[in-house]
Amino acid sequence: MKTHVNRKTIPPSLAELLDIRGITVNKVAAICKTLGVGNLRELTTAVVLEQLERIQALTPENRKDIRRALKLDKGPNNRIQLWEAQRQGNEILQTIRQFPEVKRASLAGSLRRGKDTIGDFDIVVQVSGPESKKLLYKIDRMPFTERVIAAGKNKICIVLHNQALVFLYLTDEKHYGAALLYYTGSRNYNAFMETMASAKGYHLDPMGLYDHKINRYIATETEEEIFQYMTMDYVPPELREEQEGISAAALHKLPSLVTFDRLRGDMQIHSEWSDGEESIEHIARYMFDVFPHYQYIVITDHASNDRTGHVLRPDDISRQGAEIKRINDTLGCDYVKRGVEVDILENGRLSLPDELLKQFDWVIASIHSHFTEDNTFRLIKACENPYVHCIGHPSGRLIGTRAPYPVNWDLVLEKAAATGTALEINARPNRLDLNDTLIREAVARGVKLVINTDAHKLAQFDFMQLGIWMARKGGCCNTDILNTRKWEDVEKLKKGKISDVKKKV
Ligand SMILES: [Zn+2]
Repeated sequence: MKTHVNRKTIPPSLAELLDIRGITVNKVAAICKTLGVGNLRELTTAVVLEQLERIQALTPENRKDIRRALKLDKGPNNRIQLWEAQRQGNEILQTIRQFPEVKRASLAGSLRRGKDTIGDFDIVVQVSGPESKKLLYKIDRMPFTERVIAAGKNKICIVLHNQALVFLYLTDEKHYGAALLYYTGSRNYNAFMETMASAKGYHLDPMGLYDHKINRYIATETEEEIFQYMTMDYVPPELREEQEGISAAALHKLPSLVTFDRLRGDMQIHSEWSDGEESIEHIARYMFDVFPHYQYIVITDHASNDRTGHVLRPDDISRQGAEIKRINDTLGCDYVKRGVEVDILENGRLSLPDELLKQFDWVIASIHSHFTEDNTFRLIKACENPYVHCIGHPSGRLIGTRAPYPVNWDLVLEKAAATGTALEINARPNRLDLNDTLIREAVARGVKLVINTDAHKLAQFDFMQLGIWMARKGGCCNTDILNTRKWEDVEKLKKGKISDVKKKV
């Protein structure tokens, strides 16, 4: 006998499946009956266990769309690097903001938190109720929309031509702050926030702060209001991953994080003397105009024996020095510093002898070989060299293509702190090295950090914003970042390093 199914026979928490294109009441009923699931959590488990295959009524497309709408269809390979995600996210945001039905829209999720890669886009959109139908029509026709997967009263899920997913959370003015807070925080962060809220007599969800005393939601148009009601400091989105951000905010002890306008220079730059595209003069003039708050730049061409392609040869060093002097003379200040990036060789020695390293203002030592071996010893040896000021891209990872090499970070961070060797936060989108976790550990041990673009062409100087983002995510204040200092102070720290190491010898 065939039982009659209608919308009411579907468990309420599974009703949102009906927002997915092509998913009918009969199909949801079949899922519930065959898999014995009665709520979203059970359904999620069943989907992860690939039990949807058992439902004959579902087309392969239906199964894929259910996985996507539940945010279950993404692997490590299709995550988008933060730089590219920021570009795409802003493009979508700009388009959506032009629709008259949209009063406000903000990026949320892992992109707003500045994670080094993101799985999908979350955007909070303020619409006025009756207009959301028209909005759906327009979203379906955005140039980058492949198709709308699911459309409900509060959520629209679309897939882009590049197969990335976009979740639009629709809200109104009164609940905008709460929605933005909820859809920005990591799962852990939101759970902690909810605990904090209940301790204060509230219930916190995407609708906002529900006050049990008056039995209704408090209007919270901004995130700031929610933090105020909870008597906490505003927690910057970068810190909304784990509990630390919350407990510090509740104690009014949040660090004031480093900002781009406090930077005074970029300390890893490649010119045409090695594998960069531009002359030092071009770079200097460009930086002088485009980054007027920088007081210095450090040219750090590769000096290497076994690198293919262009490198800075030992007999180039004094000629390059003369060129830098000439450029500084025309600029009328010591704007360009003489730096170098040397290889840390297999035995921990460097690709230039100390007598030559001495001639530079700033020496970066980096690992460019043997990426699968444990490199603790090489990094420690480099820190011990009195002429090495900084370790470049210390973990060696290339996001999506190369795992970091094995390193005992306890030992390396300890050595960097003891010798006064700075570690780099390399801002290239596929490096972001150190990552936020290691940055946090380095800061805790008093290791100085330098944010560098490692630019090889002019457009890459903009990566600095990404490095700042990582530093903020790692909890860095201005004082943790060496290149927020004047060059005279950098010089003082360098002197400290040489005498300290000598004392130990
Ligand atoms: Zn390098």
